[in-house]
Amino acid sequence: MIIILLGPPGAGKGTQAAALVKRFEVPHVSTGDIFRANLASGTPLGLEAKGYMDRGALVPDELTVRMVGERLRLPDASAGCLLDGFPRTAAQAEALEELLTTLGRQVDVCLQLDVPNDELVTRLSGRRVCRGCGAGWHVSYAPPPADFVCPHCGGSIGQRADDAEAAIKNRLQVYHEQTSPVASWYAAKGRLKTVPGLGSPSDVEAALAQAMS
Ligand code: AMP
Repeated sequence: MIIILLGPPGAGKGTQAAALVKRFEVPHVSTGDIFRANLASGTPLGLEAKGYMDRGALVPDELTVRMVGERLRLPDASAGCLLDGFPRTAAQAEALEELLTTLGRQVDVCLQLDVPNDELVTRLSGRRVCRGCGAGWHVSYAPPPADFVCPHCGGSIGQRADDAEAAIKNRLQVYHEQTSPVASWYAAKGRLKTVPGLGSPSDVEAALAQAMS
């Protein structure tokens, strides 16, 4: 089963991805997480991606597609995977289709989370994450501990560079200009299901389950 989870930054893809991978027993392939892991360990890929990531721009397609190709060839992805944050351009969607054809596979469904722009800005600007384990908080809805020390791993809690106001604006604009065509691409192939990303995480989880049934 190959599932794509599509949605603007702040739509709740990370939360829903965790539920979907548990349900379908496939690995979670998040291109944002892979870039961040490379950045944290200072690999050439991470250093190349950093400038783009910090200003909320997309990392070039060629680099991203190559990285996903390597990931999908790992043994744990042989039964499928959940793609989170990829494809993000029509060219990436084309490249993924070609890659999967060479592997004798195809995308089963593209799930799109739909959230209004003003709600996305509120969610992203208040988001705080642990730099150690990635656990998340929100300054208004789920405030982090006063000492900004993660209760799970002891890491420091802070704001992602790309959750700064200017980067948020840029990321949302990039999403609407470059990633919205990906939804149209899968819709044309009859493989797109759109679900409202509002309400509690379990409401959204139920809506996704219904869309897939
Ligand atoms: P995310 O955590 O998915 O919002 O990704 C964080 C950042 O990683 C994005 O703002 C981009 O700079 C980069 N990135 C993640 N996925 C992709 C992708 N499919 N194509 C290009 N850049 C990406």
